[in-house]
Amino acid sequence: MTDTQGENRMNDRMEVFLDMFREEPPEYIRNLEKYARENSVPVIRRGTRDILRFLLRTRKPERVLEVGTAIGYSALFMKECLPETSRITTIEKVEMRLVEARQNFARYDTEGRVRLLEGEAAQCLRELAVKGERYEFIFMDAAKGQYLNFLPDVLEILTPGGILVSDNILHEGDVMESRYAVTRRDRTIHGRMREYLQVLTHHGELETICLPFGDGITISVKGGNGK
Ligand code: SAH
Ligand code: MG
Repeated sequence: MTDTQGENRMNDRMEVFLDMFREEPPEYIRNLEKYARENSVPVIRRGTRDILRFLLRTRKPERVLEVGTAIGYSALFMKECLPETSRITTIEKVEMRLVEARQNFARYDTEGRVRLLEGEAAQCLRELAVKGERYEFIFMDAAKGQYLNFLPDVLEILTPGGILVSDNILHEGDVMESRYAVTRRDRTIHGRMREYLQVLTHHGELETICLPFGDGITISVKGGNGK
């Protein structure tokens, strides 16, 4: 058994063990998770879901922004973790995903607490920044190579004391490997993600922690370092 296999087995065992202590989400959320798995829709992992639940329940943000809706799984999950007065805005640009996201929101968000912005995230974020829309919690979960480009607008939109959570920062472990060990296609993401992590962890306005849960996640607090 190689080290990696041993590590994978350890991680699988950890996930199964921790499942015993994981709160079951509502049935429709579990069905969406199953649908996503069966149809290769890249949704947040259970460890990531746990972190979002913990942060949202304890911080109770009134306004949440998500970059990368897919079929609306994480947006609906976040809605379940928030007070009834909280609102979520979520951004998606791929029509195939939008079709399903619209359906899922119509079906499972009858209160209209989730707003779907259809379009390129870079443009939507710019528009939100210009309009002066501000959010206390931002979940970044879109094109991994773009996080750094989104960051200036994201930081403008984030309120002081607000939280930025970024998903998939380890990109299935690729980001840890030497640049030469990853395929050419992944090399751009590899470089950009490392740069993003470097910027987040050295940013004057942010206090950031990098966690190995799920596919790797960072939690950053704006002004968290007292600056
Ligand atoms: N947050 C979702 C999963 C998102 S997967 C969940 O856990 O349920 C990432 C999504 O981001 C994909 O659906 C992809 O189409 C979308 N995306 C990627 N780059 C984007 C961009 N530049 N603008 C808008 N959406 C983008
Ligand atoms: Mg993700």
